[in-house]
Amino acid sequence: MKIVLASSNEHKVKEINEISLGEGIEFILPPSGFDPVENGKTFEENSLIKAREAWKLSKTWTLADDSGLCIDALGGKPGIYSARYAETPQKRIERVLKEMDGVENRKAHFACCMTLINPEGKVEMAYTGICEGSIGFEPRGNNGFGYDPIFLVENSEKTMAELSDSEKNHVSHRFRALRQILKYVQTINTDLKRA
Ligand code: IMP
Repeated sequence: MKIVLASSNEHKVKEINEISLGEGIEFILPPSGFDPVENGKTFEENSLIKAREAWKLSKTWTLADDSGLCIDALGGKPGIYSARYAETPQKRIERVLKEMDGVENRKAHFACCMTLINPEGKVEMAYTGICEGSIGFEPRGNNGFGYDPIFLVENSEKTMAELSDSEKNHVSHRFRALRQILKYVQTINTDLKRA
């Protein structure tokens, strides 16, 4: 079964296909012209906007995700603005560390909302995966991307950037959301094979 992943990010398609290995599902990029306007106010809204935009082009099973870092002491920021919090990934990390300077409560989480749309254009399922942790005092580690070097995974001494790809793929917000979506897709897949 093929599912269009509402993203233009090949790295994300690769990561999601790695997590889904052995499930009999292949995620593919949407047809050209995918350019959603992410003007929602929540991860859920943005995920739905992306899913609808990709479905309009593909008219088949479509999955979208929207994710970001939410920091308790900053009232949930950067949240849906995670990708736009400053010009470059390095500057985004610097901004967060500056805003967290002297802040005692370092609690934070990554969130990922996934929305699955069926070939008729109806939402079949939406689920938000969460990865709990805290904000470190300086960047550590070279793996991953985005805020990984300053995100300390709950119950671990390591930042997300110090985990291997496969370790990250077992704890991440994306993994947690995808696991629920895959469980659901497997029931549909079985029904489709039976029909
Ligand atoms: P997107 O919605 O998945 O494109 O993510 C938006 C932004 O959230 C990214 O550009 C990153 O800054 C941040 N982000 C999302 N997931 C992760 C992650 O797993 N690690 C680090 N940063 C992330």
